[in-house]
Amino acid sequence: MDLYEYQARDLFAKHGVPVLPAIVAENPEEARAAAEKLGGLTVVKAQVKTGGRGKAGGVKLAHSPQEAFDAAQAILGMDIKGHTVHRVLVASGADIAHEYYFSILLDRSERRYLAMCSIEGGMEIEQLAKERPEALAKVPVNPLIGVDVAKAEEIVQAAGFEGAVAAKVIPVIEALWDVYKGEDATLVEVNPLVLTEQGDILALDGKVTLDDNARFRHPEHEALIDKAAEDPLEAKAKALGLNYVKLHGQVGIIGNGAGLVMSTLDVVAYAGEQYGVGPANFLDIGGGASAEVMSNGLSVILSDPDVRSVFVNVFGGITACDQVATGIVSALEQLGDAATKPIVVRLDGNAVEAGRQILKDAAHPLVTIEETMDGAAARAAQLAAGK
Ligand code: GDP
Ligand code: MN
Repeated sequence: MDLYEYQARDLFAKHGVPVLPAIVAENPEEARAAAEKLGGLTVVKAQVKTGGRGKAGGVKLAHSPQEAFDAAQAILGMDIKGHTVHRVLVASGADIAHEYYFSILLDRSERRYLAMCSIEGGMEIEQLAKERPEALAKVPVNPLIGVDVAKAEEIVQAAGFEGAVAAKVIPVIEALWDVYKGEDATLVEVNPLVLTEQGDILALDGKVTLDDNARFRHPEHEALIDKAAEDPLEAKAKALGLNYVKLHGQVGIIGNGAGLVMSTLDVVAYAGEQYGVGPANFLDIGGGASAEVMSNGLSVILSDPDVRSVFVNVFGGITACDQVATGIVSALEQLGDAATKPIVVRLDGNAVEAGRQILKDAAHPLVTIEETMDGAAARAAQLAAGK
């Protein structure tokens, strides 16, 4: 999960990374009040999960509460690389003497972490890496040791920091490592890390990605999820305990077990190629699914407006086909006239005859039974293409 800058700053503060005070505002009035409270120079910053906000006009200096109001008015609602700005951060402004760069990330291919640091900040890091790679220090970090003082010294030296500034940057890097490790992050980036005219080192921006696989260790991270930005169907499926993933095509897919669902995606993509259609989403009802789970799953899939046909592909093992068929029939009963999309069903395995019989008896006009997976995929793709 990627965090907003204001959330990253909160984690920085928690782990002792120096940041200036800041207040989140959702409208210009709140931005004015925040600037009044902070006093002095402030910076009004768009809160969107993408970089390059400064270049896009999403970061503005404000010399008075009125200027903060005006800046917030200009920034709120702005579109930055496809992200609409709903909130701004009003932060105390820093007198920047120098801009630096620091990040630590998971280097999967090398099975370790990688720290990157540069004393040539102010440039976008991709550009720096391309145009002046020698100015970007890359220091591998052994995950069993982490960033201790010696490693922090190595990073600072490799980047070319000198004397008093080097000595001040070292503890900040250790604190950033504390964020990385303590919060189970896969990325912590500070661009810019700055030296102020007063001689302090500060993190002026923060980008943090948390490792979702470590969520169980951090119940407190639940509060960082941006519920409003979540796909509403994914949220609905999650609340029902279903594994649902949104894709970009037109055929809704329900299967049992990850392996079968993945191969169903492949056959649908293949069958749909000639019509320019493909999987719209997929939902794994898992092993041992009851009629209720099937019914919930179908209602989630059918409420995706992109779906034009549905392919239910179940190989009965622990899951019995009669349960699946009952779930399909009851979902269609509940939906009534709201059900308008054709459903292609392929059942096999445990209780297949009973399952097919239930569907035949219900004789719902939207349901087609197919014997084979390839046949069903071809039919679902055709229906999605309106053929
Ligand atoms: P980004 O463009 O999305 O990476 O947003 P940043 O938070 O990095 O801000 C962009 C730029 O705005 C920084 O590189 C700074 O040059 C400038 N900036 C941000 N905060 C301050 C501040 O407190 N004082 C001053 N003078 N400039 C700032
Ligand atoms: Mn930045």
